[in-house]
Amino acid sequence: MSTPTQQDFIDVIREELGLVPGDVDWAMLKLVTDRLGVFPSSLVANGEPVIDSPEVAVLIGHTPGTGAWSVDGQEEWHWNKPVARMVIEKLIKRGVGAITVQRTKEAYSPAVKHYAKVLNAIPTVRAVVELHFNSAGSPTAGGHEYIYAGQDGRELASCMSASHSSTFPWQRDRGIKRPFYGRGSSLLKSLKAAAVIAEPAFGSNPTEWDRFKGEQEAYATALTEGIAKYLDK
Ligand SMILES: [Zn+2]
Repeated sequence: MSTPTQQDFIDVIREELGLVPGDVDWAMLKLVTDRLGVFPSSLVANGEPVIDSPEVAVLIGHTPGTGAWSVDGQEEWHWNKPVARMVIEKLIKRGVGAITVQRTKEAYSPAVKHYAKVLNAIPTVRAVVELHFNSAGSPTAGGHEYIYAGQDGRELASCMSASHSSTFPWQRDRGIKRPFYGRGSSLLKSLKAAAVIAEPAFGSNPTEWDRFKGEQEAYATALTEGIAKYLDK
């Protein structure tokens, strides 16, 4: 039996863990790939390893067990996890380096500090999107909204909102907004890059959620196109 090569090793990791950037913390992944000197194919676009020059970070809002729940019992973190992965893969396919950063602490404010520390240290990151879905006391509240702070954030939110509207014209367009009641403002204001919180639908609205909940792939495409449009500006 021959000695395993580095490529064998990374192949095993990729197979065993399903290693893609949407699943693995950027800092940890960078450490592993730097040490090994090889990159999983899912991290290569146009022949270049994109992990070294990520332009976009996609964050999953909340942690398991701490976000809002939809009427059919899905919670924000679990519903958004595959969306984050799809957006990152779609961006990488377009040649745009994209990463996620895992949330390490349960509480919101240490998590924001962690995100800011990691993301503000990567000068190539130009856009950060945190994925959520909305919830309200009234079952008829519905629609999508994109929350921003700052001028760059406003432009990113506009691009994303427009892309969302053209993909899901049946939804109410609540527009782009500044953080209300302080929600999300700490994250949005802590980041150097343009940052947006995506609220694509109301999980508390049975009619809207029933129609939107299975549209993760189309939603991921809409997000990707909105982000790409912003980056092209
Ligand atoms: Zn949320």
